[in-house]
Amino acid sequence: MGSFVSSLAGREPQLDQEAQERQRQRQRREAERAAERHAQVERQRREDARAVERQAQLERQRQKAEGAAERQEIQARQRREEERQEILARRRREAERQARLQQERRQEQERRAQRDLKRQLESYKADQKQKKKLKTGGAAGQAQPPQGPALPRPAFRGLRLESGRYACRDCAATAVLDTEAAQPVYTNVVRFFKQMRVALPKQPPLYAVSAGTMRHEAAKEDSGGRLSGPVSHVNGLCLSTETHTVQIITRQERTRSGSSFVTVRRERAGPVHCSVTGMLVMAGMPALLAGAIIAHECMHAYLRLTGVRSRQLTMHDEEGLCELMAVLYLKHEQSKGFISSHEGRLCTYLLHSIKNNPDPVYGSGYREAARSYQSYRRLDTLVNFVRSKRRLP
Ligand SMILES: [Zn+2]
Repeated sequence: MGSFVSSLAGREPQLDQEAQERQRQRQRREAERAAERHAQVERQRREDARAVERQAQLERQRQKAEGAAERQEIQARQRREEERQEILARRRREAERQARLQQERRQEQERRAQRDLKRQLESYKADQKQKKKLKTGGAAGQAQPPQGPALPRPAFRGLRLESGRYACRDCAATAVLDTEAAQPVYTNVVRFFKQMRVALPKQPPLYAVSAGTMRHEAAKEDSGGRLSGPVSHVNGLCLSTETHTVQIITRQERTRSGSSFVTVRRERAGPVHCSVTGMLVMAGMPALLAGAIIAHECMHAYLRLTGVRSRQLTMHDEEGLCELMAVLYLKHEQSKGFISSHEGRLCTYLLHSIKNNPDPVYGSGYREAARSYQSYRRLDTLVNFVRSKRRLP
């Protein structure tokens, strides 16, 4: 028992030491734990701070992005608005232009109508005067029919034409009295065009018509001032139509093989297509004059058939070119020589009257075209220039 106590007592300091040791260790661990907690708290704090910072950064980025997006949105809206304004302005300008054109057209039509009326009135008055003269002048055979100043007075063996016109004996010898008689002259002109390298792509029909029909058709042609034109134009006309045709699909079906049957139809829409429906020459002209008239009209036809629409050229330029063609034809005929001296004189007269025509359209147009022809030397070059540039050089 004693030994047990002693041994117990012997161990006491040892136990004490152990206890102390444990105590220290506990304290140490506690300290470590405290340090660790502290560190953890610190880490947490830092992390929190970083999170807050990130949050703020994100917020800033978000705001920035929102701002940019908003700015972009606003800019896009502004752009759209500007475009809309521009389109509206363009439309307004176009409408104004159209209105202006329409007004000009209306004014031109009015002027033309007034001119026509005046002319009709004048010719009516002249007719009345003539009739009165015939009545009061006794014998009808002695009455003087109306004639152009430079054409010879009607001879007794001349030809009485419809609508009170006369052809003298010499003119009557070659007078083109009907459509059939006009064809050889036409063929001659067509051949001449080919020689000049401005061959007509198509040969529209040529008809000989009465003075009344001529006047009526000329009034319909709606190109203004034709009746006031020179002799080679009052007596001829090129009838052209301009249609806006395009092929549209009226029906299309799917088939099992994937191909389809298409039915197309031509409709009035789209690009303009010019066609020349015919040319008119007044009946009763001597062949030489008829040829000059046909040459003039053929140039109108050539322009229409090669894609130059009416009014794409000014009247001045187009009629000038046509008159040039008439002159070149006359000179060509002159160079071949005439059978009668009368034809020679008629040719000289016609050339003179075209070259010295005071008309601001036909006369001045011819003179300008002739100048260009002189510098180009070749008619096809000149005509191609006019066709592409829509004006005389
Ligand atoms: Zn003409």
